[in-house]
Amino acid sequence: MMNGSLYLFPGDPLQAPDTRAVLAALAELRLPGTLLSEAPRKQVFSAGEGFARHVVYAGCSPYLRFEPEGPHDRDFCHLALLGPYETPRLLTGENTVRPRCPHCRGRLPDWQQALHAARLPCPACGREVDDWAWDWRQHAARGRVFVELRNVFPGEASPSDQLLSRLQEQTGMAWSHAWAGMSPEP
Ligand SMILES: [Zn+2]
Repeated sequence: MMNGSLYLFPGDPLQAPDTRAVLAALAELRLPGTLLSEAPRKQVFSAGEGFARHVVYAGCSPYLRFEPEGPHDRDFCHLALLGPYETPRLLTGENTVRPRCPHCRGRLPDWQQALHAARLPCPACGREVDDWAWDWRQHAARGRVFVELRNVFPGEASPSDQLLSRLQEQTGMAWSHAWAGMSPEP
């Protein structure tokens, strides 16, 4: 099974909030612990004490591991701040469902094949639509800035209302969430 993440991102995928404001919101709720690594447009943190409080499990919460077991271990709960990217990115998972066209609501079959191009023609209405502009509901993350909560699998847990509202207050825009595969390093 591939690694999964819960992603938080602005509801409008074209918006790129100031990542310092995003980090301030996360820090207020103590989601990040210490900085583990840094690369252009990517900061990776250990999980702080707020992680388990603001990632809310639907059923009984599983055993959560917050420490790596070796230098290449990524199967533990931690988080990353990704972006800002010049244009919106689409992050999908192995269980991503067929998205709907934003114009005619037609479904896109074989989206895995179609994703080799950035703009995908709708088989129903013929319009060319950017990959991120399709309606993926909560089965793919899209945007220019992402908060990635790693090792949270599809449907398993959701962000707390407080987490989403704090992000909204700090950045001045509404936030959404979705599940997808873990982003690659670096
Ligand atoms: Zn269409």
